[in-house]
Amino acid sequence: MSFLHNKHDTYLPFGLGRSYGDSCLAQSGQVIQLSGMDRFISADWSQGILQAEAGVTLAQILSVAIPHGWFLPVTPGTRFVTLAGAIANDVHGKNHHRVGTFGRFVRSLELCRSDGSVSQLSAAQHPELFSATIGGLGLTGVISRAELQLQRIAGTDLQVRTERFGHLQDFFSLSAFSERQHEFCVAWIDCTARDNQLGRGVMYSADFAPQSGLKIAAAGQVKLPFTPPVSLVNSLSLKLFNELYWRKTPVVAHMAVQSYQHFFYPLDGILNWNRLYGRGGFQQYQAVVPQHCASDAIHDMLAIIAATGTGSALAVLKRCGDIVSPGILSFPCAGTTLALDFPQNDATAALFQQLDAVVRAAGGRLYPAKDAHMSADDFQRGYPNWGGVEKWRDPALMSRFWHRVTQ
Ligand SMILES: Cc1cc2nc3c(=O)[nH]c(=O)nc-3n(C[C@H](O)[C@H](O)[C@H](O)COP(=O)(O)OP(=O)(O)OC[C@H]3O[C@@H](n4cnc5c(N)ncnc54)[C@H](O)[C@@H]3O)c2cc1C
Repeated sequence: MSFLHNKHDTYLPFGLGRSYGDSCLAQSGQVIQLSGMDRFISADWSQGILQAEAGVTLAQILSVAIPHGWFLPVTPGTRFVTLAGAIANDVHGKNHHRVGTFGRFVRSLELCRSDGSVSQLSAAQHPELFSATIGGLGLTGVISRAELQLQRIAGTDLQVRTERFGHLQDFFSLSAFSERQHEFCVAWIDCTARDNQLGRGVMYSADFAPQSGLKIAAAGQVKLPFTPPVSLVNSLSLKLFNELYWRKTPVVAHMAVQSYQHFFYPLDGILNWNRLYGRGGFQQYQAVVPQHCASDAIHDMLAIIAATGTGSALAVLKRCGDIVSPGILSFPCAGTTLALDFPQNDATAALFQQLDAVVRAAGGRLYPAKDAHMSADDFQRGYPNWGGVEKWRDPALMSRFWHRVTQ
């Protein structure tokens, strides 16, 4: 690889930069751009096994796999990420309670390191380096290609059950019930609701609809053409949006068929949606707290957030299952995860400290892919096995995140 003998001390592999924080930013400012490595290598459509280069996107995988009756086994909330980026963050999706993380479906991968070595890794071949690389934040070497096990589907639309719930406690009971019945479960939360409405939201539970046919999603996108000087997401607009969204959801549960892009990728339909937050930008906060104390911890976090009047229209609550992730640094654990965006300002920094205290007390942790503020103490406590990645870190690779939380 060309980064072996060069003038910079360290580098970082870079996919499409869709990570929200500084885990995809190189400490030196020098990245190895891999989105150009975007060729498919082989496909066995009888078994759903696909081999592709690192920079192939999940959208490209869907466009070749769907006509053969295959889908991604796990997908994040955007299809505009690379295969290697999805591996390096061991991403999770709305079916975590059933199948765990993306890394569980990586059959093997090829890793190039700055010592010139090119290794084939799998659970059987170099297992320690394999599990340091899955969720390894791009630090163990450059993934050049990977082999993925896809999921068989008969139709690309989803049969979605939509159900309102009035309080956080209802989320937990409804979620436990829905997870037993449905492959995909996720809830929208009204982060502005307080007191006896705290944690009210809408549960979406879904399964692929077998009779719906195999259709590739059209790329249709609305574009936010400019960045407003100030954030359009403020306490007034947020309160109004959430109230309308809550009211428009029928009180009685209902079923509807939705396309996969509508269900899995709502934000992919709005190009540059991040501009809504104005020139100051935003930060995402995503934490997972263990199941035994999730109810209290999520209650406290939502109460803190609601008191500030900030947050985002898209606030997501999901219970993660207990399937162990293959990566040393994989984020999900058996528990509940809360994710939402906040405008970037001093008040948000103060709010994050309060939220961090709740997550810390609950024994939870933050998601490195979404983080730009976590302290070294919180990272090392939340990921006690982080030394397993440091042991395998390629000395030529360093991110701003890793430097911040370990060095
Ligand atoms: C709208 C939206 C919704 C999202 N929803 C979810 C979700 O539901 N679940 C979830 O888990 N995540 C979610 N994410 C986060 C996103 O899926 C991850 O951050 C993903 O890893 C980004 O991939 P990327 O290709 O853009 O990689 P980048 O952001 O560029 O990089 C991510 C990491 O991968 C490493 N990397 C990239 N290429 C290579 C390579 N070739 N070899 C080794 N390492 C490499 C980088 O060094 C970095 O550490 C979401 C992001 C967005 C924008």
